[in-house]
Amino acid sequence: MPISEFELIEHYFAHGGNQRRDVALGIGDDAAMTNIPPDHELIIELTRAVEGIDFDALDDAADIAHGVLARTLTALAARAAEPAWLTLALTMPEIDQDWLQTFSQTLHTVAAQHGVQLIGGDTTRGPRSITLHGHGFVPNGQCVVLDRAVSGDLIYVTGTLGDAGLAILALSDEIRLPRAEREQALQCLHRPVPPLAAGIALRGLASSAAPAGTGISTALVEILRASDVGATVHVERLPLSSMSRTHFDQAGGWSLPLHGPAPSSLCVTVQDRRQAEIERRFNDAGLPLTWVGTVDQRAGLRCVLGDGTEFYSDP
Ligand code: ADP
Ligand code: MG
Repeated sequence: MPISEFELIEHYFAHGGNQRRDVALGIGDDAAMTNIPPDHELIIELTRAVEGIDFDALDDAADIAHGVLARTLTALAARAAEPAWLTLALTMPEIDQDWLQTFSQTLHTVAAQHGVQLIGGDTTRGPRSITLHGHGFVPNGQCVVLDRAVSGDLIYVTGTLGDAGLAILALSDEIRLPRAEREQALQCLHRPVPPLAAGIALRGLASSAAPAGTGISTALVEILRASDVGATVHVERLPLSSMSRTHFDQAGGWSLPLHGPAPSSLCVTVQDRRQAEIERRFNDAGLPLTWVGTVDQRAGLRCVLGDGTEFYSDP
């Protein structure tokens, strides 16, 4: 039985989500209204996913919801923000109630896990796409940005690298993983845990940060270009997950942690005089943080092995 747009929003999106006290007007009004805590700045991020480009028609709706939300939250984490609210623009060719049930349920569940509330959106007909706005806040002046890395800064990676890249190799049959490891790798690719605690631990200490969802090398190059500096990375320092250590050779060696997706990691730069402080803060919080290289004056990214040979460079 077809349902109206009003019924669709009522049934799938208006209820069952997290309820925050700082939301004065949520789903149901023409616009939402929220309260930003005093002495905080609002950080806004937009993530869009389009069928046929970012996901396939037959992909699990739970994976799609999880993936889009994780990207949004990770982008807020890279700005050292605490995520608070979401708005969703959803476009679909027809009303598929099973798809909507899974999608909305997953979105509500994962949002609630991170204390985030869906406060509004729009629902339209057309080729399937999902646009998610994430809103978060950060104490005045403590937002970490992309373009403030300077020569001499230390480069760090949060979390470990390789698992999501192994999942991609497994899905394209380029590598065979035992069932439990395959599941674990797929989980890291499709259900990544956004590095929110790591993001907050950067406040007041990091000079720049970027999400590593499309790879640590890509994240670092983004920082370097925006900041007009270069860097040297010691690839053997890259923090491999235990699974990627096991399958290292089969999985393409250092290309895996360097270029593979790392949706739960951030690439971070820190002034060298802040080294002890940032390492202590992450250590006290039980969060992995690994030094991998140094920002320098010469443009481009150079990746070197222990014996000094250049492994990869992005000019
Ligand atoms: P409008 O007429 O202003 O476009 P709608 O009828 O589209 O309003 O939406 C009614 C309410 O439902 C609004 O509060 C809107 O923010 C919310 N809403 C619409 N679509 C979604 C969605 N996909 N997810 C969350 N909230 C939605
Ligand atoms: Mg509308």
